[in-house]
Amino acid sequence: MDSLNRQISPAEALRRMQEGNQRFVEGRSEHAELDVKHIRAASGEGQRPIATVLGCSDSRAPLELILDQHIGDLFVIRVAGNVVRTATLGSIEYGVDALRTPLLVVMGHTHCGACTAVANGDELHGHIPELVAPIGDALRAVNSRLPGLSGDSLVAAVAEENVWQSIEDMLRHSAVVRGLVRQGSLKVKGAVYDIETGAVKWLGPHPRQNVIITDAD
Ligand SMILES: [Zn+2]
Repeated sequence: MDSLNRQISPAEALRRMQEGNQRFVEGRSEHAELDVKHIRAASGEGQRPIATVLGCSDSRAPLELILDQHIGDLFVIRVAGNVVRTATLGSIEYGVDALRTPLLVVMGHTHCGACTAVANGDELHGHIPELVAPIGDALRAVNSRLPGLSGDSLVAAVAEENVWQSIEDMLRHSAVVRGLVRQGSLKVKGAVYDIETGAVKWLGPHPRQNVIITDAD
């Protein structure tokens, strides 16, 4: 079963997702054609997703819908703020290693509540401060690189920086992910979904990917 999804290159997986988002934006989604036959076909053969995708839990950012992918196409992890914590990392490792998806995408989104709360310095309660701690790192990076940002422009910059933060955190903390990237078996890319237009902005690989991998080893 693993050999089948190895037939899909990272570039082909990305192309399918890019085309899916294009269909979604243009109102041509194929999901409308989903029927019981598709569901039975997906359940009978085990799963062979083309990509592992980490996104935010935000109700406005359902990954299969915005990328117009069918049941069985995406191995999805959604957590508020698309942050990398232990449960996220274990799920990602299952997707890229056990299921052998050739592509891993971290998908942030505009107007993210978690990024907004951290950017505004809101008082947070319960388990949320621990959850969103990595977004604090992203905020500090934005403040040092682009001092003086505030309001919507600060939130937008934090949401994009937080995508890089999550990629950096998974590369630093997962020897499994690093090993697959180093072998050339896995590409890791960032993206930001615009909840107003429905369009995904594809960001490419982390600009310091090789440095992070070398430092972590
Ligand atoms: Zn969010």
